[in-house]
Amino acid sequence: MSSPRIPVSVVLELTYRCNHRCVFCSCPWEAPNSRYPKGRELELKEWISAIDRLYDSGVQSFSISGGEATLKDCMPDIVKYIHDEGIRRGCANPIVLISNGLAMKEEYLHLFKENDVHLSMSLPGYETFREHTGVDNADGVLRWFSRAKEIGLSTTLNVTVTRMNYHELFETLSMGLINGATSILLNRFLPGGRGLSHMKELTLSNEQINGMMDTAEEVLTEANRYGNLGTEVAICSIRSPERYKRLHVGFECAAARGFFVVDPAGKIRTCNHSPRVVGHVLEEPMISDVVYWNLFSRGQCKPSACNGCISADKCDCGCREVAHILSGSPLDPDCSLGIEIGSARKPMI
Ligand code: SF4
Ligand code: SF4
Ligand code: SF4
Repeated sequence: MSSPRIPVSVVLELTYRCNHRCVFCSCPWEAPNSRYPKGRELELKEWISAIDRLYDSGVQSFSISGGEATLKDCMPDIVKYIHDEGIRRGCANPIVLISNGLAMKEEYLHLFKENDVHLSMSLPGYETFREHTGVDNADGVLRWFSRAKEIGLSTTLNVTVTRMNYHELFETLSMGLINGATSILLNRFLPGGRGLSHMKELTLSNEQINGMMDTAEEVLTEANRYGNLGTEVAICSIRSPERYKRLHVGFECAAARGFFVVDPAGKIRTCNHSPRVVGHVLEEPMISDVVYWNLFSRGQCKPSACNGCISADKCDCGCREVAHILSGSPLDPDCSLGIEIGSARKPMI
């Protein structure tokens, strides 16, 4: 079997810890009765070896998340190392740091500015912020968006859309952009992690998934900005996929193809949504579960219900790890899309 192909982008989950308690949190170690094999968190020296190995394997762009990345003491050193090493190796790309903003500090914003970091902060609703996160209100994170704009730091407003905050999506997106966010990242709620305990209250209907995208397109058009849908949908689940000009919509699973994930203990997964460990960043070979990895990296996990669809070369039938989590196999349809896959064969784009 040929060596597994390593994507050019990686997400480093620096810590399991978090100061929010989001009901939709998809971290696999937060799942009810989780059997996720959490390990000892890597220390700075080990992260530096890991980053070297990743650069040596062809990785060119890094995102940093958690848990909550700002709770990891050595986060500033890791940011600086990725940045300086990227310059030294001639492949400097912006680093994306994903945070909930609760432990943000002025000094971090300056660190990010100096090290070419793009800051992505979450706002899962304004009125419903407390219900979603367990933290009093969203005013703090909105202030950090404004402050980041003042110092010229580019930011993304990261919104997980659920059945509970769907009614205030227009206001949430508008508020984030008015307060200085540069772009938006929209994530439909995906069952996984702690969210598995709240599926009924959180999972959007198919009508709401379409409505969420329409609202984002409307806000982005009015604000003259652009955004991305971060959690893939199926072409046949969307009424008019061709109508989105400002919102970039993904139909293909990028797990192990576009990016992959290293967890706080160095364990590798195909996607942050995946509960399955497939290797370790400090071991040789890095990828040990090659069969599972290749299903994703070679784009071979399409449901048989999609056989014969003329859009099959550009659509992976929603989220492949949700299919794995809910049905037991990444080769099953994604039943969180709210439609029966195979019932439609619309060659719309
Ligand atoms: S979704 Fe993010 S901010 Fe919320 S609990 Fe999970 S890791 Fe923390
Ligand atoms: S039938 Fe499958 S491949 Fe075709 S559009 Fe629907 S989900 Fe995508
Ligand atoms: S498994 Fe694939 S489709 Fe699901 S969130 Fe990850 S990249 Fe997206």
